[in-house]
Amino acid sequence: MNVADSTTVDPGAAATGAARVKLTEIFVSIQGEADSVGWPTVFVRLTGCPLRCQYCDTAYAFYGGEWFSLDQVLERVASFDTRHVCVTGGEPLAQKGCFPLLQRLCDAGYRVSLETSGAIDVSNVDARVVRVVDVKTPGSGEVARNRYENLDVLRPEEQVKFVLCSRADFEWARDFVRERRLHERCMVLFSPGYGQVSPRDLAEWVIDERLPVRLQIQLHKVLWGDTPGK
Ligand code: SF4
Repeated sequence: MNVADSTTVDPGAAATGAARVKLTEIFVSIQGEADSVGWPTVFVRLTGCPLRCQYCDTAYAFYGGEWFSLDQVLERVASFDTRHVCVTGGEPLAQKGCFPLLQRLCDAGYRVSLETSGAIDVSNVDARVVRVVDVKTPGSGEVARNRYENLDVLRPEEQVKFVLCSRADFEWARDFVRERRLHERCMVLFSPGYGQVSPRDLAEWVIDERLPVRLQIQLHKVLWGDTPGK
């Protein structure tokens, strides 16, 4: 459900002075990724991203959007009546208002996760948030944007995600994990790029190498295909 369809919040009344965020959509779905996979979850998708990964499936979030006050976002999230909230994008941390939004969601008692590109400092994110941080591979076209210092601040329950576009990407990620012993610091997720690496191939590569990583298939795409708002 796109925010433009909202009947419970008036975007025209948005945000005067206080912290606010520009949103592409708020919707409820099944969490398709990371450690909270399978939970009914409200997704808050912030508009804009400074990266351009070649496999991006949310390019519709690069532009447009509507401003909402944090109160309006909280009101809309509450209307979906779920325990889990995922703040995503785009690159949500590219908006300053994302930081107080995460704090407000935690204060309200939600289990909050954040999906971020790994290109922006995550150290000031509220400590109650579970951060899911991408490491961009060479195949993404954005490997130069990785902010590797982010990996040093992650807690054991937090996650690093690699989207793999080829066998060469897999080997790059494999060596990255082993050299940095990343799996001893946090959870490591390997995901096949949609339509680029077959899930079965990736499963066999992980098994063959006995890699201490979790294979992840995007559950929402299995269920609904590559559909926005799902
Ligand atoms: S960081 Fe995410 S939203 Fe931005 S271009 Fe890459 S895949 Fe798309």
